[in-house]
Amino acid sequence: MKRLQFAIGSKMIGEGHPCLIQTMGDQKTDKVDYAVSLTNRLSKMGLDMMRFSVLDKNDAFALKEIKAKTMIPIIADIHFDYTFALMAMEAGVDKIRINPGNIGGEANLRLVIQEAKKKNIPIRIGVNSGSLNKYRGKTASKADDILLALDETLEVFREEGLEKIVLSLKSSNPHDLEEVYTKAYEKYPYPLHLGLTESGYSTNGCIKSALGVFPLLSKGIGDTLRVSLADDREEEIRACKTLLRLAGRRKDIPDLVVCPTCGRTLVDVKPISRLVQAKLDAVFSDVQVAVMGCPVNGIGEAKDADYGIAGTGMKDTYLLFSKGKVLGQYQKEEALEKLFKMIDEYEKGNLQAK
Ligand code: SF4
Repeated sequence: MKRLQFAIGSKMIGEGHPCLIQTMGDQKTDKVDYAVSLTNRLSKMGLDMMRFSVLDKNDAFALKEIKAKTMIPIIADIHFDYTFALMAMEAGVDKIRINPGNIGGEANLRLVIQEAKKKNIPIRIGVNSGSLNKYRGKTASKADDILLALDETLEVFREEGLEKIVLSLKSSNPHDLEEVYTKAYEKYPYPLHLGLTESGYSTNGCIKSALGVFPLLSKGIGDTLRVSLADDREEEIRACKTLLRLAGRRKDIPDLVVCPTCGRTLVDVKPISRLVQAKLDAVFSDVQVAVMGCPVNGIGEAKDADYGIAGTGMKDTYLLFSKGKVLGQYQKEEALEKLFKMIDEYEKGNLQAK
């Protein structure tokens, strides 16, 4: 099946385009300064598009200012009141996300679709296992219930002639998620937004999300991704980047290898690895960097890394290495400075990893 591709603001999604990273504002949208600062901070880490909930008119009006002060596509998330969807489109958002089942009836849904078509704004249709209502239990599986609900909704979009549609079919169960997205990928040409909903806090949420989305990403399914965590939004971006790199879906995401430390550890690995992670947050290449606790096993274990540092027996002294070969021994600051310079040069394409 030929899959669709189209623009969402400045970014292309769909067939032949990289899977894009999304997250959502974590405070009320009319706190404009907060929303702008969060968006701009996260976009420097690789966030591709930002979603904001629209609860009232103040949120809808705020979108215009947020849009003017940020560089990435902005998505408005609307429930219950279709007029907020119209206002968000008037404010210039790049996509809207609605649940057609709760937007106030079919006539209002058609008004939203007609306006989106007129303004050339894609719509993300969100149907998830928590909002199935009359479709719950209609088929043999939750996944098929979701697809049944979606089929009825899509009929309205087809009648209105809107093709720029993104589907979101979230579930909080990794098995259901894999089933519903695999079936949707085979059945519809529309780009798919992946994410496990209500995944949880920190480590637990990352594990659940990874179990749900990694098999899909590895098969080439998924055009945008969110790892929803009850945690700092920075952690969501890092989790998305890790999944996309490991699934082979992006070539502009670095990898950080850190040893777990053991009785041979000669330096405090954690603070050093945090400094390196902070550096890599703003790097857009496929460089692999290692932070190892000792040279005994560390350099050999990290021999695939493009660059790395390993603690020595002397206080605050590190070996700098590349592909398993030691380049020199330096004090912490100089070792980090040299490491970061090599990472920058790799990004510029001046150094080639062997
Ligand atoms: S690199 Fe050294 S300190 Fe780290 S786990 Fe391996 S042996 Fe232990």
